[in-house]
Amino acid sequence: MKGTVYKSTGSWYQVKSDNGKFYDCRIKGKFRLKGIKSTNPVAVGDVVEFDLEEVAEGTQGVIKKIEERDNYIIRKSVNLSKQTHIIASNVDQVFLVITLNNPPTFTTFIDRFLVTAEAYDVKAVLLFNKIDTYNEDEILEIKYLAKLYRDIGYECIGISAKTGKNVDKVKEMMFGKTSMFSGHSGTGKSTLINNLEPALNLKTLEISEQHKQGQHTTTFAEMFDLSFDARIIDTPGIKGFGVVDIEKEELGDYFPEFFALKQGCKFYNCLHLNEPNCAVKNALEEGEIAWSRYKSYLQIIEGEDDPYRTDIYKK
Ligand code: GDP
Ligand code: ZN
Repeated sequence: MKGTVYKSTGSWYQVKSDNGKFYDCRIKGKFRLKGIKSTNPVAVGDVVEFDLEEVAEGTQGVIKKIEERDNYIIRKSVNLSKQTHIIASNVDQVFLVITLNNPPTFTTFIDRFLVTAEAYDVKAVLLFNKIDTYNEDEILEIKYLAKLYRDIGYECIGISAKTGKNVDKVKEMMFGKTSMFSGHSGTGKSTLINNLEPALNLKTLEISEQHKQGQHTTTFAEMFDLSFDARIIDTPGIKGFGVVDIEKEELGDYFPEFFALKQGCKFYNCLHLNEPNCAVKNALEEGEIAWSRYKSYLQIIEGEDDPYRTDIYKK
């Protein structure tokens, strides 16, 4: 049988088969996937093949094969060096919920997030929330930011999770897809998800309560079906959007507007710092690249500590 992993506890996996039924599955034997050293061979979002077995407790599944992943999101294992924990796989898109000042979301945070999404090969969408609360100047600032990021190629939507404004647009984008939500605490993720699917909020709360009480330090993602043909992956206890290793030399490739100009740099391995005839720096001076983006690039490449950083580990 074929199915998708919805939940994992480390040794057991809840798999939804193509016929819509859930089965408790475990793994038999060892899995090695394309050289990934992972503490968990099977992750939420994985498409797996499994067989059913009759045991004393009833019917259980045995996972035999994992289909190749479109993408996956990882976290570095704290204890075991070089081991990674795969948080989720086959994620279609991640929505970053942004507020201007309550709480503030700085462009350096947005840019780090986008770099992570690019590195994971997950589509990112920016949601500017709480548009019911902004004055004229703040609306102008949001328009400026939305244009900046749209010009690079990212979809941006101004929403109000509270009044429901444009939440239907978010819903439309979620149809038939698996989505994740990210953003600083207080930006309105719970309110938005509650607006999208009132019944789900309860479940999510229950889970985070369990985590507060429980002794487990490992948090596992869980996938939920929504009532309108969409899936959400919830990652309780995981701040931001996982961790990614990036080489200095490849960082520029995750800034799409830098990447597009790279061919024009004199040196093929140009870091766009102080090299002569750098197309990125020329574009910056011409105003074709935003200073805020270049500033974020410098911060990441210099490894500056930023209290609002998402977790990017530079190699
Ligand atoms: P989370 O930490 O990201 O899950 O944020 P919450 O959903 O708990 O929201 C934090 C606070 O912002 C709550 O008091 C919400 O009522 C409020 N909030 C969320 N979205 C909106 C919005 O669109 N407009 C307004 N005015 N308040 C909002
Ligand atoms: Zn350059």
